[in-house]
Amino acid sequence: MPSTDPTILRLQRQRYYEKNLEKALAYGRSRKRVRTEYNREWRRLHPDRVRAYTQKRLLWDAEKLNAGKRSWYLKNRERILKKRSDYYYANKEAVLEKNKARAPRYRYARKGYNFKYRMENLQACRSKERAKAKRYYMAHRDELIAKSISEQRQRRELFQASGLTDRVGIKKKILEAKSSPFTKCFHCGTLLVGKPIHFDHLQPISRMGKHIPDNLVPSCQPCNQSKKDKTVEEWNDYKLLCHKEGK
Ligand SMILES: [Zn+2]
Repeated sequence: MPSTDPTILRLQRQRYYEKNLEKALAYGRSRKRVRTEYNREWRRLHPDRVRAYTQKRLLWDAEKLNAGKRSWYLKNRERILKKRSDYYYANKEAVLEKNKARAPRYRYARKGYNFKYRMENLQACRSKERAKAKRYYMAHRDELIAKSISEQRQRRELFQASGLTDRVGIKKKILEAKSSPFTKCFHCGTLLVGKPIHFDHLQPISRMGKHIPDNLVPSCQPCNQSKKDKTVEEWNDYKLLCHKEGK
């Protein structure tokens, strides 16, 4: 009569395993194959359950799942891209229509993600953006120049509309600043000898500032470009924000 004592049973199993190692391993492998087949079939028959489980698993195992997906994608990249592009060209109209309908939702969903990505890859993003801006400029050079000229005209009109223009006083102030070796940037204090001198409207023209000598201060190029049409207070807030974001 076979023993029912668990300790003895375990010892017996152990001994059998050691004596028939190859056979035991082969049996294990075959069981695994059967199991895998069975699992695959089960997953095929229960797509909803699989999806629900994946959703749930994402909560605690996102990193591993994403890494798995990523490596699968990289391994099958060519095939996936080919399939996608085939599908696109075969159903172009429908795809475009669908994308159009989904666009607002996706834009909203990606907003936070995009911001985070940009902050984490700031240098790379910036050089990409610069290259893109340059390409755009080269492609639309004439238009952009024409636009800039018309903007300059509008600005001049704004100057005139702000009234009280003291052309002589402004000219005098500019000449003085340009001829003095002690002219400093009003905002950051950099000496401006041998550098381009910009003149900044402390209270921007577009914010009801006046084009008069008292509202003009010499400024370095970076300060002037950064301040643009912000008031000094707004500009300080802006710089603080940029500093926080690590720009
Ligand atoms: Zn400056």
